Amino acid sequence: MSDTPHTDDDLAPIRESVRALCADFPGEYWRALDRERAYPTAFVAALTKAGFLAALIPEEYGGSGLTMRAAAAIMEEIHASGCNGAACHAQMYTMGTVLRHGSAAQKQQYLPAIASGDLRLQAFGVTEPTSGTDTLSLRTTATRDGDHYVINGQKIWTSRAEYSDLMLLLARTTPRDQVQKRTDGLSVFLVDMRAVKDHGLTIRPIRTMMNHATTEVFFDNMRVPADALVGEEGKGFRYILSGMNAERILIGSECIGDAKWFITRATAYAKERQVFGRPIGQNQGVQFPIATCYAQMRAAELMVHEAARLYEAGRDIGAEANMAKMLAADASWAAADMCVQTHGGFGFAEEFDIERKFRETRLYSVAPISTNLILSYLAEHVLGLPRSY
Ligand SMILES: Cc1cc2nc3c(=O)[nH]c(=O)nc-3n(C[C@H](O)[C@H](O)[C@H](O)COP(=O)(O)OP(=O)(O)OC[C@H]3O[C@@H](n4cnc5c(N)ncnc54)[C@H](O)[C@@H]3O)c2cc1C
Repeated sequence: MSDTPHTDDDLAPIRESVRALCADFPGEYWRALDRERAYPTAFVAALTKAGFLAALIPEEYGGSGLTMRAAAAIMEEIHASGCNGAACHAQMYTMGTVLRHGSAAQKQQYLPAIASGDLRLQAFGVTEPTSGTDTLSLRTTATRDGDHYVINGQKIWTSRAEYSDLMLLLARTTPRDQVQKRTDGLSVFLVDMRAVKDHGLTIRPIRTMMNHATTEVFFDNMRVPADALVGEEGKGFRYILSGMNAERILIGSECIGDAKWFITRATAYAKERQVFGRPIGQNQGVQFPIATCYAQMRAAELMVHEAARLYEAGRDIGAEANMAKMLAADASWAAADMCVQTHGGFGFAEEFDIERKFRETRLYSVAPISTNLILSYLAEHVLGLPRSY
């Protein structure tokens, strides 16, 4: 597939550099990691060294100070190259919470070190086993004790905790029945995990369908300094929400990259594979699913670009960011399924990488937010239908 015509031609050099970097990490690299469920340390180090993970950190803090469109292009190209940015994408958007709501001291202390790669901010602890998507019901508590907070509870699906120095953690500081607004009472902490690992913090890996380095984490009287609090106590839910639009755009871009990878692979195979004395791609039954996925991907891509454009314009883009992520996840999953079908039996062979990418891209219809919750958001906040939960 030739490059889709981009409205963002100014980003062509970045796209080129990402592709060049990814060329050093071919399918064999990812297959070996997938077998062992190992972390792509060399790939993450290369992305960090090239400055791509610091794309959204302003230059005054040592970052690249790029736009959201550029950051989205980086994630898309990583995935379109057959690589996977899930090992490190959180760093790109979680740092936004520190940037927007952190104190001057926190920004000076952490952002330059994150930008240089000396500190890794890869872990984001929101989801809990009992509350799931219902974040306001989370049970992890942080109680002020002198110049510390004492944290107790549990998180699940805290990805990359084993490969991160810092964790952005959401915990309840005021009991739910004592807050005036239902969204109050939760606070965000920037936890230096190096100081508390095995001293109140336990991390247990969870083996998943794909190679994702995800974990469950347990807090048992974990003491963090009071200055780990980000922004104002009790306002953390708002801070986390404010970072989610960036997350949705970046994950949507990963999905677009995946969809492009599947479509490219399917097209190439359909041209080359001969059955009944002709290329399978000569049959409309094979052509049409590929063409349908291409059209679906292009439509989703437009929505991702639109969300990124509006984000940069400082607009409230809850609806666009959610739609972009949902449509892009739908497009990547449809393309994954089509790609397996186009390859017949070889779609299942490890060495083709398709089954691996198929497993990887399935995640995005569930995490970081599931499709149903996006539809509920649109129904309630855009269409004005009654709140369903
Ligand atoms: C590999 C992986 C990595 C992850 N990484 C992180 C991470 O780093 N940090 C983090 O905090 N979280 C992470 N998550 C968690 C992820 O964000 C959640 O799994 C996701 O938001 C869904 O929540 P849940 O699993 O609790 O599902 P639940 O909330 O239990 O929901 C289960 C199903 O029911 C549906 N559902 C629930 N309520 C409603 C409703 N009212 N209306 C309609 N449908 C409904 C949901 O859409 C979903 O399909 C990760 C998850 C996975 C699998």
